[in-house]
Amino acid sequence: MMKAKVAINGYGTIGKRVADAVAAQDDMEITGVVKTRPSFEARIAQEKGYDLYTTARENIEQFKKSDIKVSGTLDDLLDKADIVIDATPGDIGAEYKELYNKHGIKAIWQGGEEHELAGFSFNSEANYKEAIGRDFARVVSCNTTGLVRVLYALDTAYGIRKARVTLMRRAADPNDIKTGPINALVPDPIKLPSHHGPDVNSILPHVDVTTMAVKTSTTLMHLHALNIELKDTPGEDAIINLFKERPRIRLVSSSDRIKSTAEAMEFAKDMGRPRGDVWENVVWKDSISISKGELYFFQAIHQEADVVPENVDAIRAMLELERDGARSIAKTNKILGI
Ligand code: NAD
Repeated sequence: MMKAKVAINGYGTIGKRVADAVAAQDDMEITGVVKTRPSFEARIAQEKGYDLYTTARENIEQFKKSDIKVSGTLDDLLDKADIVIDATPGDIGAEYKELYNKHGIKAIWQGGEEHELAGFSFNSEANYKEAIGRDFARVVSCNTTGLVRVLYALDTAYGIRKARVTLMRRAADPNDIKTGPINALVPDPIKLPSHHGPDVNSILPHVDVTTMAVKTSTTLMHLHALNIELKDTPGEDAIINLFKERPRIRLVSSSDRIKSTAEAMEFAKDMGRPRGDVWENVVWKDSISISKGELYFFQAIHQEADVVPENVDAIRAMLELERDGARSIAKTNKILGI
């Protein structure tokens, strides 16, 4: 079988993870990854066997000086691939749309870009079918992916009357030495709505959801506190069973000594996950409560990882490698070890 050829433009936190997840699949391969300048990440990409490209011809000399082999520029790479994953920093990806159009290549952007750029926002469980054969898509952000996974499951099973969510966001990724706050909690934005609710609506337009967000002095994970009024009123056990059946929700329990995002991350490391990645939503089973007819629970989201399997599924849908979303999800999960 011919493997689909995937280019990665922006080989940082998300790009390098998507590259490894793509390389692990049997129906797609990495044609090349793009770095702007030499770095340890470029060197490791080379050691992994990925062909390295750079954004502009004038950068090639810098790579040569650092003894890192470069196969050409982004322009050269785009001619060789079937699809490009754009994992450049937020708002930069939009600048590349014209270039992708020029090369007639399909493109997947990330959550830092606006929905309108691709005209279609993706989540594997909620709208795989609508992605089939598309030229452009945007995999929604880590927080939105985490929210859509649970809200789609609940809405499909019971109908959501309204969802109210407070997101306690990690302020920066672990490798980020520039972003704060170091010692503060920052309501962000100060006034409703945070962008997460409207972003959920780019995939689930009919769900009544409002979100508030607070930046917190941590790098590990985001924590969501959810309060949802459902049209039917299931018991707590029914919700637990619903989440158990979903492909990308992992139930954990404080009685198993996972009481925090720190222990959830340690759990992933102990499982031998690459980079300690948690690709699933981590839902605390013992937080699931029905009170006065409304559902409450906590979930943690590993911001560096949860969008990675979604990118793999989006590639499969857009290149029509698999028409059945559930089968793509099962395949991605099996190969990654979810
Ligand atoms: P990052 O800063 O870790 O990586 C971006 C990479 O792109 C870096 O290697 C950088 O050198 C490179 N780059 C910068 N300018 C470039 C250019 N003009 N052309 C090509 N490459 C360039 O960023 P990230 O956290 O991986 O975020 C990438 C995208 O994924 C953003 O849209 C972001 O919003 C989204 N996202 C991030 C997270 C997260 O928590 N880190 C989670 C989900 C989605």
